[in-house]
Amino acid sequence: MARRDSSPWSFRVATVSGIPIRIHFTFLLFLVWLGWPSRGSEGRFALLLVPAIFFCVLLHELGHALTAKRFGIGIKDITLYPIGGIAMLTGRPNARQEFWITVAGPAVNLVIAGILFPILLALRHPMPSLGTDMQEQGLLTALLEANLLLFAFNMIPAFPMDGGRILRSLLAMRMDPAKATRIAGGIGQALAFVIFLAGLLLPHAGLMLIAVFVFLGAGQEVASSVGFSLVSNRRALDAMMTQFRTIPSGASLATASGYLLEGSQHDFPVVWEGDVQGLLARDDIVRGLTTEGPAAYVAGLMRREYRTVLPDAPLDAVMEMFTQGDRSPILVMVERRLLGMITAENLSEFLMLEQARVRRLA
Ligand SMILES: [Zn+2]
Repeated sequence: MARRDSSPWSFRVATVSGIPIRIHFTFLLFLVWLGWPSRGSEGRFALLLVPAIFFCVLLHELGHALTAKRFGIGIKDITLYPIGGIAMLTGRPNARQEFWITVAGPAVNLVIAGILFPILLALRHPMPSLGTDMQEQGLLTALLEANLLLFAFNMIPAFPMDGGRILRSLLAMRMDPAKATRIAGGIGQALAFVIFLAGLLLPHAGLMLIAVFVFLGAGQEVASSVGFSLVSNRRALDAMMTQFRTIPSGASLATASGYLLEGSQHDFPVVWEGDVQGLLARDDIVRGLTTEGPAAYVAGLMRREYRTVLPDAPLDAVMEMFTQGDRSPILVMVERRLLGMITAENLSEFLMLEQARVRRLA
């Protein structure tokens, strides 16, 4: 899978070709659970097989990441979770690039299977068969089976699986990207429904779980893509707030808390003679009142590090800045002159209004 938001519950274990490889802590819990002594030989076998499978998952994600890198698209990191891996891209590939980036992942599993197959033949190991106990089949056979399953699972043409993205990118080469996402999302949700029905009839809890996962993933992908399509060709200037309060750096916290109470604004640019000095957020005011009291100057409590964009910055890049975890406002500035402010709330209001306008046009 290739996704675009990060988890704080992970830590770096290696770096490959400049790409940090991270492991989510739940993955370590999963390994501890597998190797727990009471699980006996079955547990020990799993403790060999699972890391081997995850090594293949890592190679799959590197397939995505290194292909993206070839297109000049940034990679934040690769994180391994107990349910699989995620390669996080920092840019938005176009349809052709997305096709190749996505195809590269499952292709790696197919290549690994292609390497294991003659080895199994030469060693006269059994070939994988579904339904046979993986431990009975032996490590290499189980690994071949795992790679074939990874390939098949990822090629399901539904988000958030690679197959869904391949389908979307193929459609997007022929039509508007937002429409392509809606169609691919619709196919994914219809497929999720069929998978759920199959799970219900068999009955198979795992299939039903996959169906729910696919259904939710498709909805999320469509929502995010619709959001991005609404802001394409728009600039920071179009969405910024221009009516908001600033606070002089010589003002006291008592003044700042008065501003906080009298309106709905939470964050105040701190200015001195028209130049921005910092940003004072609600948390800073509350923290300052408890540690220093109401007479303290805002200059001592403001954040000197704040995010800025130029008024003609593309709005999708601004939106991207909010999806990366930091929800603090972004100041729209030219040199040191403040023109406007974009907060997460006002951006979501802008999206709602745009959506209403687009619906009227449609
Ligand atoms: Zn993938």
